[in-house]
Parts: sequence; structure tokens; C-alpha cells
Amino acid sequence: MVLYMDSVNKSPDRCKKAASSGLQTLKGVGPKRVRLLSRLGIHTIEELLYHFPRKYEDRSLVKKIYQLQNGETETLFGMVTGVRDIRPRRGMTITKAALYDGAATAYAVWFNQPYIKKQINKGKKIIVTGKVDRKYGEIQLAVSDYEVIENEEAVNGAGVVPVYPATEGLQPRTLRLIIKDALEQHLDSVEEFLPSDMLEKYNLLPIDRAICSIHFPMDLDEAQKARHRLVFEELLVLQTGICMLRGTASQTVGICHKKNGPLTAEFMRRLPYKMTGAQERVLNEVSRDMESKKTMNRLIQGDVGSGKTVVAAAALVKTVESGYQGVMMAPTEILATQHAEGLMEMLGPLGVQAALLTGSMGKKEKEGVIQDIREGRIDVVVGTHALIQDEVAFQKLGLAVTDEQHRFGVKQRAKLRDKGQKPDILVMTATPIPRTLALTVYGDLDISVIDELPPGRREIKTYWITDSEKQRIYKFIREQVKQGRQVYYVCPLVEESEKMDISAALELAGLLQSDIFPDFQVGLMHGRLKQEAKDLVMKAFKQGSINILAATTVIEVGINVPNATVMVIENADRFGLAQLHQLRGRVGRGAHQSYCILIANPATDEGKARMDIMTRTNDGFLIADEDLKLRGPGEFFGVRQSGLPDLKIADIIRDIKTLSTARDEAIALLRRDPCLRLPENIKLREKVMARFRETDNYFSIS
Ligand code: ADP
Ligand code: MG
Repeated sequence: MVLYMDSVNKSPDRCKKAASSGLQTLKGVGPKRVRLLSRLGIHTIEELLYHFPRKYEDRSLVKKIYQLQNGETETLFGMVTGVRDIRPRRGMTITKAALYDGAATAYAVWFNQPYIKKQINKGKKIIVTGKVDRKYGEIQLAVSDYEVIENEEAVNGAGVVPVYPATEGLQPRTLRLIIKDALEQHLDSVEEFLPSDMLEKYNLLPIDRAICSIHFPMDLDEAQKARHRLVFEELLVLQTGICMLRGTASQTVGICHKKNGPLTAEFMRRLPYKMTGAQERVLNEVSRDMESKKTMNRLIQGDVGSGKTVVAAAALVKTVESGYQGVMMAPTEILATQHAEGLMEMLGPLGVQAALLTGSMGKKEKEGVIQDIREGRIDVVVGTHALIQDEVAFQKLGLAVTDEQHRFGVKQRAKLRDKGQKPDILVMTATPIPRTLALTVYGDLDISVIDELPPGRREIKTYWITDSEKQRIYKFIREQVKQGRQVYYVCPLVEESEKMDISAALELAGLLQSDIFPDFQVGLMHGRLKQEAKDLVMKAFKQGSINILAATTVIEVGINVPNATVMVIENADRFGLAQLHQLRGRVGRGAHQSYCILIANPATDEGKARMDIMTRTNDGFLIADEDLKLRGPGEFFGVRQSGLPDLKIADIIRDIKTLSTARDEAIALLRRDPCLRLPENIKLREKVMARFRETDNYFSIS
């Protein structure tokens, strides 16, 4: 039987074939249902057994129609006395069945599931669960689950019933029956892979019990115990995998950078300011990593404006001083250009050759830079994705930095790394990810936090206003510009397409320039502008000849114009909190008091809550926590692209305690048995490998 690791060592094709024929051995599963199941991501019996219920419904509580409570989700048993489809408008079908319970009639209602009509007809007895709505003088149930009952005794003893993530054409009931059959035939061959001392220590159900109970628990308490075991196992596998990845990386012998010499000293001497304590501490951590023979894999987390760039610059100087080249990759051309200019200013006087490489550079120019990199005439190169194209090769790459890495996937980071012989890796992010989540997402990186802003910065004052108060804002902008300050004006986000974002930006810039601020200079910035145009606009804004810059969110990442003091964001409720915080970070970079104005008329309480949080705090970590709570980790930056396996049952927020327990256990386990070769750990190892192989994670665990 194909259940656990059997599939691991086979080619994917063969494995899939064997597995799906596995599914076909189940009762009621033919080629059509195999196809439907595959739509749910189920190709093997193992995947079927790991297709967990979304929730449960308690059928021990079948009610009579007269007992139904309006607005509650209730379960009803009755005979179908009629079924019909209603089409209130094109593309919408309502299937309505009259149900008689021996005393009264209620109506079960399905939306847009026309196939239902084929499955129930007059005379059949069915049990339905759904939300009760008294409407048009009748009682309706918006059905969330139903089952045709052949044998009436099944009704009262039904107890807790699982509700699965389903797909069209595959009824909840059908899926339940298929899973029931899979359990009957295959549960015996499910092997325990958690070490027995762990089961004991955390009082976890054995795997077969857990899988059985998660699908068909006697009561919700049992379901909960099963869930706990399965969450633990999932997080343990995840954390073990991450720690193994990290172990392999940190054991790799890479480059030993030299201790700081005259070049670094000169760099420090020339800095126009003193580094903050946090910057110094983080730079020390970086230097120590670079000097050690282990490859550095370090993440620098620091709120916007905390001064990450200069730390990276110091590290780049260190690699040059040790006789290597350095590279820094940024997610946008604007940002790459800005970094290149900043670095050239800092490094030029030291005699360090820095260059820029972006996709939009002329062919000749690009080839020139690429050749200079290859032949070692350039010490430090800054660029965009253009850096990871095949043509780019370094003579001697010592350090690879990526800025704002939540924009890059694990793969791109790895590609940059492969431009050299095990160079040290530094990743910078302004997304203040809560620590536990960071362990999950960046588990393969060591983390340094710059938790202090350069001195003299003032809190950015944040206000939330509604559309009707815009005139006041225009007046405020006018005052600021008159005082010599500059303003960012971020246009409404039109999520459908970049094109529409741009037309919104154009419109806004036009409005601001001709109707509202005819006497000021209004500029426009968006992603589709040609590079030269972008450069011109950015230059003009930096020099102060543009007073107000209307922009799409391209402005979000990293732009540094200290004289800009006002950030206006229209339709602010459409943005995520982390994104708003990033945008706000564009101001408050100089000596002047800065302001962030959120214009929004949020329709929901959540929207209002988000605006409120922004006005209350400037603390990126706090905002990130709130964002995580409001939106869930899936939506959180980078979690999707992190290259880690998707979680099937665990929830990083809800199960955060289990996550850290699992992490501690994983670390302890790997200390005793680094490659999980001991007999009692072999099965866990196979499980980890199988789970990580599904992802396109660059690293391989071996
Ligand atoms: P971020 O961490 O958001 O990338 P930057 O590196 O762009 O921040 O730094 C923001 C601004 O703060 C820059 O203008 C930089 O020159 C300045 N800066 C950085 N470190 C210090 C410091 N220790 N003292 C004063 N200003 C600093
Ligand atoms: Mg930055």
C-alpha cells in the first residue's frame, strides 16, 4: 500500500500513478472522483487521510421545526415533499426543497449548486444543517451540509459529523464515505513516526487514533485531542526540517573575512554621524559571522529608518578589504539606484569601485558592467533582479546582501548566493515580523534586530480623516510646502490591475497640479515609467524642485528624502497595516516634524480598527502583531513565498505555543542525532524529507 514514505524515492510520475490507482481501490472512487479529489490536492491515500475536517457539526441535536432558532445553525431531519430550482437572475440558481418533519414544513436552500436537484427528490428523507432564516413568512435553512438518510437509525446516533473542505461535484457526504472506507482499509498500515518518549511527554494520541478521531470523533473533546497531536506532528516536522536546513548551512565552510583594517577604519571615520548602539551591536554580529569560517546566513530586521543600509555598507567594505567583491540586490530600480548612489558617495572616497546594474540600462552599458564584474574591476555592485541573470559572474564574490527581502523568494536569494563560492549572506528587512513567526519563515537565518532609531527623530504624527475633510489636508499641505517641506501623495490602490493604478495616479496628479496646487510643482511616479523618467523624477524630488509627489505604491520601499515631511495616503483602508507602516516610513527621516495622513472611510469595524492602530503607534513590531491577528499569517508578507511547506492543520497564531515547543524538541532531537540516523528517528526523518521535497526549497536536506 502506498501510504507513507513508499512514495519518496520514486519518480514523481510513477509515484502519482501508483498513488491514484490507490485511491481507485476505495469504494465508490472511479476515474471521475479521482479527478475531483485531485482538485482538492488529494492524490494518494495518505493525502486523503490527511484531508482534515474544516469543522464539525453536532448532529446529536436534531431539532423539530418549531424549535428552530432564527439566526442559529441548526440540524433538521425530514422528508422531502418537493424540490425546485429558482433563477432570480442570470448566473444564479437557488435550489429549494420543502422538508416535512411530521408536524410542520421548512425549506432547505442551496445557492448555486444546481446538481443538488439530481441528488434529492420527493419522498427521500434527508438530514440538513444550516443557518436558520425566517424570511417571506417561511422558515429557511441555508444548507451547509446535508445527507440523504437511507436508514433512519443513523439519525439519532450520528453524533459529531466532520465537514470537509469540499469541491463542486463532490458532496460532503460522498467525501465522508470515501474517507471512512480509506480508514477501514488503511488505518492499520499508518505507522507512528514520533519518538515514543515524545508521545508520552506531551500526552499525544498515537497516530492511528489521532487520524481516526480527527475524522470521526465521538465528541468535540476527542476531536480536539486528535487535532493537538496532528498540529504537534506537523509543527515538529516543519521545525525539524528548518533546523536541518539551517544546520547544513551553518556547518558549511565558507569564506573567512579578515579582521577590520584601515579601510574599515577610514569608512567609519568618514561617516557623517555616529552609529547607534543597535547598529554597532548588529554590525559586530555581522563581522563576527564574516570572520568565522562558517558561512554567514543572517537577517537584519530593523524598522523603517533604523539605518540598515549603513550596516550593509560597512559589511561590503569589510568584504572588499578582505579582497572580495560584494553585491547588493534590491527589489526595485528606484531603490537600487538610490542605494548605488549612496554607496558610491560613501565608498568612492575610499577608492572602492561601486557600480549599478539594472534591467533598464542600455545593452552596451550593461555588458560593460558585467565584464567589469567578471574581471574584478568592480568591487561592489548594486542592482535589481538583473543581477541574478546567467550572464552575471563574479571574479570573487565574498558577500551577497539582499534588501527588503520579503520581496524576494528563497530561490532568488539562493541564486544570488550561487554567484560565488559560498559567499556570506546578509538579508535586510523592514518588515518587523513577530519573533515566533520569523522563526518559522526565516528559520534558516540567524536574526539580528536594530531596535533603536537614530537620535533626534521625532514620532511621526498620524491622523486619520474621512474624504469629506480633504480641504483641510490641502490647506495643511500648502502650509508645509510654503515652509519648504515636501509631500508624498499616494493614490488609491486599484487592486484589479497595475494599469488601473497608473491611471488613478495620472488622474490624481492632474487634479493636484491643475486644480489644487497650480502654484506648486507636482510630480508623478509609477511603476510603468521608463527608467530615465523615474530617475529624473526622483532626482527632481530629492533636489526639491518637485514639491508634491503623486505616486503609486512603488514609493513604498526604501526611498529616502529627509526633507519630505508629509505622507498622504488615499483610501488607506485598502492597504495592509504593514504596507501602511512602510509607506509612513518614507517621512520622518530628517530633523523636521513629520506627518502621515490617512484618508479613509472604512466600511467595516476591522477597517476602522486598522486605521486606529496606525494613529496610535509608530512601533512596527506592534503593528505587525496586529496585522498578523487581523489578516492571518497566510496574507503576511513573505510567508507564501518563503518556500516552506504549507501548513495543513496548524495555525501559527492559534498554535504558537505548540510551535515553540515543537521547535525546542526539534533542536534537542537534532543535538542528539544531527542527521536523524538513529533507528527511532529514521521515520521522522523520512517524513521531514517527504514534506520538504514537496516545496521547491532550494536547500536539500541530506
Ligand atoms: P532603513 O533601515 O529604513 O533602510 P536607512 O538605512 O535608509 O534606513 O537610513 C535612514 C536614514 O537615517 C538615512 O538618511 C541615514 O543616512 C540615516 N542614518 C542611519 N544611521 C544613522 C545614525 N546612526 N545617525 C544618524 N542618522 C543615521
Ligand atoms: Mg532601507
